[in-house]
Amino acid sequence: MRSPILDYLDTVIEQTAHVDSGALADYIPELAAADPTRVAVALCTVNGTVYASGDTDHHFSIQSMSKPFAYALAIEDYGLESVLDHVGVEPSGDTFNELSLDPETGKPRNPMINAGAITTHALLKTEHGSSVERMLNLFSKLSDRRIEIDESVATSELGTGDRNLGLAHLLRATGALTQEPRTAVEGYIRQCAASVTVRDLALMAATLANSGVQPHTQERVFRRDTTRQVLSVMASCGMYDAAGDWLSTVGIPAKSGVAGGIIGVLPGQIGVAAFSPRLDMHGNSARGVDMMQKLSQDLGLHLMEAG
Ligand code: GLU
Repeated sequence: MRSPILDYLDTVIEQTAHVDSGALADYIPELAAADPTRVAVALCTVNGTVYASGDTDHHFSIQSMSKPFAYALAIEDYGLESVLDHVGVEPSGDTFNELSLDPETGKPRNPMINAGAITTHALLKTEHGSSVERMLNLFSKLSDRRIEIDESVATSELGTGDRNLGLAHLLRATGALTQEPRTAVEGYIRQCAASVTVRDLALMAATLANSGVQPHTQERVFRRDTTRQVLSVMASCGMYDAAGDWLSTVGIPAKSGVAGGIIGVLPGQIGVAAFSPRLDMHGNSARGVDMMQKLSQDLGLHLMEAG
């Protein structure tokens, strides 16, 4: 028998069909060529059951939704204290590609904006494989299938990555960046070009919801305290300059990406993923935000509301 949860997810897609506001990310040519009508939503329980509706097998690049996972890996590599020496945890209130540095320390304000994410990527240990390989292996573990890079997206962004390169040079000048700027930006851009579906993302988010244990394989991918740190930073900084609005309306830790994906995590319960390529003025998927608001209201996900 078809699950009522699937019927419900179908209605989330139907009831947000009118949302056609926003625009495709055009600073990466390959993203500007996306089909704006594609839409999908998925959720995964901490027991590993995945429910998905819409264009569930459509692949798109993970983009900034990779940032919480790179941050988690850096914490696992060095411990939180050492990572905090390089990247802070304060919401910046700035757009994703702003050079948000703490004026006193010269460190990027948080790991969810590009400046902090480039710095975090460059921190990853490389004794056992390049940082990009390590990120791909991590995404594969989290989604329980092999994840690869969309080379056309990577090439496209590498060709237009001047702003990120500029950020990296400034980060190098302040001492925050430990790598050569071009190497750091190329690695970061390839990390962002990993190709995923909403099913993959729901499983990745469910691993965070499950305190770092992948629900299918039962492998502990992140320590419990690492997961808590990542979710805390997602809650305060994950939705860029719309983070406050998001926390009050949707109320769960989340991260968006410029290809149109959003992941959300209700700790101990579920991981959620939505996809629709048109972005609002903050760089978050316009229909994705609507879908998430609806899920939060209908399923009572808001963390600040007693159950
Ligand atoms: N690769 C993108 C960039 O650095 C990620 C931005 C995002 O998804 O918000 O510009």
